[in-house]
Amino acid sequence: MSEHRTSRIIAHYNLIEPKKPRTIRALSVPKPSCSMRGGEDKIAVPETRYATLAALLAAVRDCRACEAHLPLGPRPVLRAAETARILIVGQAPGARVHATGIPWDDLSGERLRTWMGVDQEMCYDESRVAIIPMGYCYPGRGSGGDKPPRRECAALWLDQLLARLPRIELTLLIGQYAQRHFLGSRRKPSLAETAKAWREYAPQYVPLPHPSPRNQPWFKQHPWFEQQLLPMLRARIKALSAR
Ligand code: SF4
Repeated sequence: MSEHRTSRIIAHYNLIEPKKPRTIRALSVPKPSCSMRGGEDKIAVPETRYATLAALLAAVRDCRACEAHLPLGPRPVLRAAETARILIVGQAPGARVHATGIPWDDLSGERLRTWMGVDQEMCYDESRVAIIPMGYCYPGRGSGGDKPPRRECAALWLDQLLARLPRIELTLLIGQYAQRHFLGSRRKPSLAETAKAWREYAPQYVPLPHPSPRNQPWFKQHPWFEQQLLPMLRARIKALSAR
């Protein structure tokens, strides 16, 4: 999608009040600010126009911004509560997660929970763990697997969501899209180098590879990941869970 079209979509959503789409008042909406994280893509982000996180989440779940590009249609999959201290930022739902509406409801999710040292109950307790991927709807298949997350989600919603999650102390950045967005120029040339430099991003961020079974060779090639990074991750999550 061109930047021009993305900007038009963002402008459209910026003009929508909750429950009052396309009102005359929309004309007085101030010019949106530029606040894309990481300093890479300067895309205008709409100001927060929702009084509560629940209202914002309802608006996100009604989002149809890039419907024409989604082979299975919109079904935003995310969850959050204001009390959450841990945030998981992944890539985008796969076809299975699109079907169930439950994030990380697959083999990758099982591995992620093992990495984190948490069970399903903890993982899906949104009062403690928020789950917000870079793209909220299943983007479809490309030649090398699932397509990248739609950029519109971050441009339209992410900063608003993060602003409503004031207690997040630890953010898991899973995969290159999350790392690019949150770390920007602090990211290393490769995902392995970024993950290996995890101490540079602590305690706020922990960069991780995708826990897909297809990445098994990567896990074997980088033993420091299991030996050093994962014990730190589990200890951090355990400490946050105990509070
Ligand atoms: S992928 Fe994101 S921007 Fe597109 S319809 Fe779903 S929530 Fe909206």
